[in-house]
Amino acid sequence: MNLLPQPHVLVSKCLGFASCRYNGLIIHSDFVEQLKPLVSFITVCPEVEIGLGVPREPIRIVFADGKSKLVQLASGRDVTSEMNAFSMHFLNSIKDIDGSILKGRSPSCGIKDVKIYPAAEKSASLKKDKGFFGGAVLEHFPDLPIEDEGRLLNAKIREHFLTRLFLVPQIKNLMAQHSMKELIAFHAQNKYLLMAYNQQEMRVLGRIVANLEKKSLDMILNEYQKHFLSAIAHAPRYTSHINVLMHAAGYFSKELNKEEKRFFNDYLKKYRENKITLSSILGILKSWIVRFNNEYLAQQSYFKPYPEELMELTDSGKGRDEI
Ligand code: SF4
Repeated sequence: MNLLPQPHVLVSKCLGFASCRYNGLIIHSDFVEQLKPLVSFITVCPEVEIGLGVPREPIRIVFADGKSKLVQLASGRDVTSEMNAFSMHFLNSIKDIDGSILKGRSPSCGIKDVKIYPAAEKSASLKKDKGFFGGAVLEHFPDLPIEDEGRLLNAKIREHFLTRLFLVPQIKNLMAQHSMKELIAFHAQNKYLLMAYNQQEMRVLGRIVANLEKKSLDMILNEYQKHFLSAIAHAPRYTSHINVLMHAAGYFSKELNKEEKRFFNDYLKKYRENKITLSSILGILKSWIVRFNNEYLAQQSYFKPYPEELMELTDSGKGRDEI
C-alpha cells in the first residue's frame, strides 16, 4: 500500500497547543493528540490575535436588527470588525491547508452549534449558528474537510473527516504531477472508495479518465479534481459501505471456509445494526488481503484511507445518524 502524505491542518490553538481560553485553560483532545505525529498543524487563536488577551471577559454573538455582532459581555465592547478583519487577513495568508479542526461552540471558532443571543446582557439564546472565524473558514475553504472537536468524537464523522483529510493532499499532488499515467493509477486505486462514496460521480470520473472527447490534460485534471472533491463531500451511507464490503469479500469466496464466512456475515450484521464501526469490519478484510496476497485489493485506498494508528481511536458511542 502506498505512503500517505502529511496533511496541513488549521487548528484552534486551545485544543492542546496553548492555554488561551478566556479563563486561561487549555482543552485536551485525544484526537488532536493522536494526529500530532501524522499531520502538520497550523495553530490559531483568533480572540488572542485581535488583542483580547488571556484571561479575558467572554464574548458572545448577539443578533439584533437583522445583524450578528461579536460583543464582549462585561464591557459591551463590539469586536465584530476586528474579528472580520483578522479572519480575512489570516485566511488569505494561509494558502496550503488540507483541512481544519476548530473548537466547537465558541463564538469565534465554532462551525455550527454556537449559541446566538438577542442581547449582550443575561438572556436565553435565540438559535445556534456558526462562529465568526469558523464561518469565515467554511466560506474560504468550501471543498476542504472542516470539523469541530466535539463532532469528531463520533466514529462516523471522524472516519469521513480523516478519509477526506488524507485524500485532499493526494489530489493536490496529482494535479502537480500533471500526468495521465498517474491520473489513471490514482483513479484505479480509489475505485472502491468512490464506489462507497458516490457511484454517480464514480461513473462521471471514469468518463473523464477515459477521455473519449480527447480534451487537453489540463482540462481533464481540473474536471477530475472538481468531481473527485464533490464525490467525497458527503459521507457514504452505511448501505453503500455494506455493498462495497460484500463486493470485496466476494474475492475470497473460494478460499474461505464456512466458519470464516459466517464470522464475516455476523460482523456485517453488527455493522448494519450500528453496533460496530467500519474500521472493525475493514480489519477482517485486510487480514484476508494479506493472507491470500490479493494485490488488486491491497492497492485500494478504501482499505487504508488514513494511517492505521488513527483507526484505533475508540468511538464516543454516538449514532451514525448524527453526521
Ligand atoms: S475557541 Fe478559538 S478563540 Fe476560543 S480560545 Fe480556542 S482558539 Fe481561541
